[in-house]
Amino acid sequence: MRAVDVLVVGGGPAGCVAAWEAAAAGAHGVLLIERDRAIGAPVRCAEGVGGAGLREFLDPDGAPWVSRRIVRVILVAPDDTEVRLAESDVGYILDRTRFEPALAERASAAGAAIRIGTEAVAMARSNGAGAPWHVTLRGPGGEETVAARVVIGADGVETMVGRWAGLETRVAARDMESCAQYVMGNIAFDPDAIYLHFGPSVAPGGYAWVFPKGEGIANVGIGVVTLRSDGRTVRRYLDDYVAHRFPGGTATGLTVGGVISGVTVRRTVTDGVILAGDAAHMINPLSGGGIINAMKAGRLAGRHAARALAEGNVTAPNLQPYHDEWMRLLGDAHLKYYKIKETVNRYDDDFFNRLAREVNHIPHGKRTLGRVMASALVHHPSLLPVAAQLFLQEFC
Ligand SMILES: Cc1cc2nc3c(=O)[nH]c(=O)nc-3n(C[C@H](O)[C@H](O)[C@H](O)COP(=O)(O)OP(=O)(O)OC[C@H]3O[C@@H](n4cnc5c(N)ncnc54)[C@H](O)[C@@H]3O)c2cc1C
Repeated sequence: MRAVDVLVVGGGPAGCVAAWEAAAAGAHGVLLIERDRAIGAPVRCAEGVGGAGLREFLDPDGAPWVSRRIVRVILVAPDDTEVRLAESDVGYILDRTRFEPALAERASAAGAAIRIGTEAVAMARSNGAGAPWHVTLRGPGGEETVAARVVIGADGVETMVGRWAGLETRVAARDMESCAQYVMGNIAFDPDAIYLHFGPSVAPGGYAWVFPKGEGIANVGIGVVTLRSDGRTVRRYLDDYVAHRFPGGTATGLTVGGVISGVTVRRTVTDGVILAGDAAHMINPLSGGGIINAMKAGRLAGRHAARALAEGNVTAPNLQPYHDEWMRLLGDAHLKYYKIKETVNRYDDDFFNRLAREVNHIPHGKRTLGRVMASALVHHPSLLPVAAQLFLQEFC
């Protein structure tokens, strides 16, 4: 049986960075497996990330995995009133088919082995708390069992590693957004801006987005909490949205997927196992952004795995500092965002429409998020402005 120090299950942003960091931190025998035939594809994402978070890992200037640099945010009310915020260094729209391979190359350069087309299909512990996990892999050459001292579950929303390890990863229906997105061409919009369209009639429990991939082409999508919908499917919400906003557009690709809008699972570690990224529900519950979060969690997971291995103790208490560090970094903030999201979800279309019109009285050059919030606070002593601030902090 092949033995490794660290087995990373899943080659998304969390897994690639976890493998990269574990190998860079000195773990020997790091193996990353990805069940799809290509790292980074198929894309199930709008691909937007904030610049500051991204630069912690890679330099986006001139990078081939950047589709578009974004300098503006346009908030849209249900009645189509647009609020153009003053320009800032907002972030980037990635090309994830090239971005994740770039991360995987870093992992490989640091010493990690990478296998594509290889799925973890079962996992059991051989013997007691400190003993390796035996993970069954199914790949092009058939089935094989690998003994891993630490398994990093970076296997996304539908994580099996968490379940196999006995960690609670179920998602309440109220915390799951169903998303549908078209890649759309032949449409008119500001190619340097992201559009975020709010209101329960547009996207109950979520929002609609337009994230530019280039001139006239964008990821146009919508996220809806099914429990709050009026009976339409998310695809129908998207079709209605597109018919209203971009009637002449051409859809050339369709993506559907789930985004968890809850908070980090209570336990992200157990003996010899760490969960990172979507597998541990580490998405920003307000924005649904999870790429940078997954990378930050992957970084922590890789480092703590390497540390615990060097200390010769991979039991749950010695992996717990990973969980604690994540909660200090972002997990505790997500608890607050979640409460705000619950409040925002109670507002009706009229509220968003009135707020947008009031905010537009601020001259454009001064319409920074701070001014927008100050104005909104005066007229609406509610949580919405705070929500806007937290929502956009990933992009500002
Ligand atoms: C429609 C949509 C739009 C989104 N838009 C944005 C956005 O604009 N910005 C943003 O920041 N976030 C966005 N997200 C969220 C973002 O995609 C995720 O938060 C992010 O990809 C999480 O990274 P991850 O590595 O944890 O998981 P994933 O990216 O899901 O990667 C998990 C990987 O594990 C693999 N895997 C699963 N099981 C196994 C197994 N048993 N064996 C081997 N491999 C396995 C999968 O094939 C997958 O490649 C969006 C999500 C959706 C659905």
